[in-house]
Amino acid sequence: MSAPRTDTIEIDGSQGEGGGQILRTALALSLCTGKPLRLFQIRAGRAKPGLLRQHLTAVNAAAEVGGAEVTGAALGSRELTFVPGPLRGGEYHFAVGTAGSATLVLQTVLPALCLAREPSRLTLEGGTHNPLAPPWDFLAHAFLPLLGRMGPVVTTELERCGFYPAGGGRFTVAVTPVAKLQPLTVLERGKVLRRRARAIVANLPTRIAQRELGTLQGQFGLQRDECRAQGIRDSAGPGNVVIIEIEAEHVTEVFTGFGEKGVKSEEVAGAVGAEMQRYLESSAPVGEHLADQLLLPLALAGGGTYRTLEPSSHTRTNIDVIRRFLDVVARIEQSDDGTHTITLRGQA
Ligand code: ATP
Repeated sequence: MSAPRTDTIEIDGSQGEGGGQILRTALALSLCTGKPLRLFQIRAGRAKPGLLRQHLTAVNAAAEVGGAEVTGAALGSRELTFVPGPLRGGEYHFAVGTAGSATLVLQTVLPALCLAREPSRLTLEGGTHNPLAPPWDFLAHAFLPLLGRMGPVVTTELERCGFYPAGGGRFTVAVTPVAKLQPLTVLERGKVLRRRARAIVANLPTRIAQRELGTLQGQFGLQRDECRAQGIRDSAGPGNVVIIEIEAEHVTEVFTGFGEKGVKSEEVAGAVGAEMQRYLESSAPVGEHLADQLLLPLALAGGGTYRTLEPSSHTRTNIDVIRRFLDVVARIEQSDDGTHTITLRGQA
């Protein structure tokens, strides 16, 4: 084995949030900057530490896109070295092999593919609607339009939904890259133009979806014509998700809740409704998860600013990992109305 390079970035996976985001952000930035990476104590903050199937698929995807030399790419591994080679856009097919989130695999390679020389076309398989991960709808309607304002054209099509535990979902992504990302500013939401709620049931009775939508109408003031129940027949297993989209002049936000055995439909919808309400009651354009996910493109662009709710520990940990790779300064300022403005500045 060759001697470790002196420019290797060493990342402790137990810091802050101690989860999979540290791995994905570090891999994404290793690909974008060409800096080698050594990661240890991977996901030490989680009940099942180390690489799970979803994380391993992300490592292998990053290795393929970046022609990287990797050690430690195995299930359960808590340590990894990743030495990227030349970045290459093109045709890729990444399959998690379980219901693990395929959108999180995309999150790992997308920044690099937005900056590659060639366009890319990806097919991703696994979970498309997973708790604790960006659902496909969030990707398509909240995240990608904002990324698009930074230059790259990224489109996606959902071919089949994949829910935990059966998986079997599939979507495609087409990327037209740019030489450099442009900074982004999202300080105002603007007028709310449209609210849309969907309750999806796969291989489960439609009345679950109807009860969920009834809760959104009864408790959260959504109108009947803003709500739609959708039954899916071609899913590999059962699943239920409630998705609320708030389309405003300057940003679209997407909130999601998942049906679970033993949890009443009213509770599932109530939790998503409360999240939507909290967002609408604040004046912040950017919600908790978008706040996480905008950091990396902004840092790569060398700047940008957005106003959000209270930054989560995910957001703070993400900033720390980004600053190990890129010369950026992050400022978080709280306003009197309780919203926070996050500003990144640097020399990307
Ligand atoms: P683990 O936490 O078990 O290591 P993980 O790999 O899923 O698992 P996390 O560190 O929890 O990693 O990161 C989850 C990612 O999913 C974050 O980018 C977060 O913003 C995103 N996310 C979680 N829930 C949602 C949601 N409802 N909508 C959009 N994005 C979400």
